[in-house]
Amino acid sequence: MRIAVLAVQGAFIEHEQMLHQLGVETVQLRKKEDLNCQYQGIILPGGESTVQGKLLKEFGMFEELQSQIRSGIPVMGTCAGLILLANKIVNQTERYLGTLPITVLRNGYGRQLGSFYSQGNVGKIDDFPMKFIRAPYIDAIEDSEAGEEVKILAKVDGRIVAVQYKNQIGVSFHPELTKDTRIHQSFLRLTNTSTSSYNIGTE
Ligand code: GLN
Repeated sequence: MRIAVLAVQGAFIEHEQMLHQLGVETVQLRKKEDLNCQYQGIILPGGESTVQGKLLKEFGMFEELQSQIRSGIPVMGTCAGLILLANKIVNQTERYLGTLPITVLRNGYGRQLGSFYSQGNVGKIDDFPMKFIRAPYIDAIEDSEAGEEVKILAKVDGRIVAVQYKNQIGVSFHPELTKDTRIHQSFLRLTNTSTSSYNIGTE
């Protein structure tokens, strides 16, 4: 098994380390040609979504990445990665990949007080340690294609912080910055199953 990690900016090394710990090979997506490699899933890390979005376009990676996600390759976006996936961003006209039918609020907890820790269930995973760093939250779930819904996996203080929609998992926090590998393991299980038949929320 091989997982691609977007490595144009942000906390990609921590995702790679966690995947290596789980015995999974990784490949970094840094330029257009990297998108031709063989891999079974993609991780979009935290960082700065505006910078990542701009670099994806500058490096000519944007359309191919979007098309791979639309074709059903399992993808997990964490924090800025969730923003990249979102269909709509509050107070911002520009959006990025737009493959996940949700609206996000960037820096939803404020810029200064935006970093905090919480613990809670994520789908069927109990008591997951959640580290938020200038995090977005999911402001609204949008109508999606008939028959498929966005599943809410986690809420903190009434706000949605993790979702799954078919092959896409989006979380506001940083599972790669904890020692808990369960979300990554769930994501790996998604890559082993035919798209969308495995839900981390319902197993
Ligand atoms: N605030 C960042 C953004 O808007 C996300 C922060 C993060 O990924 N830790 O892109």
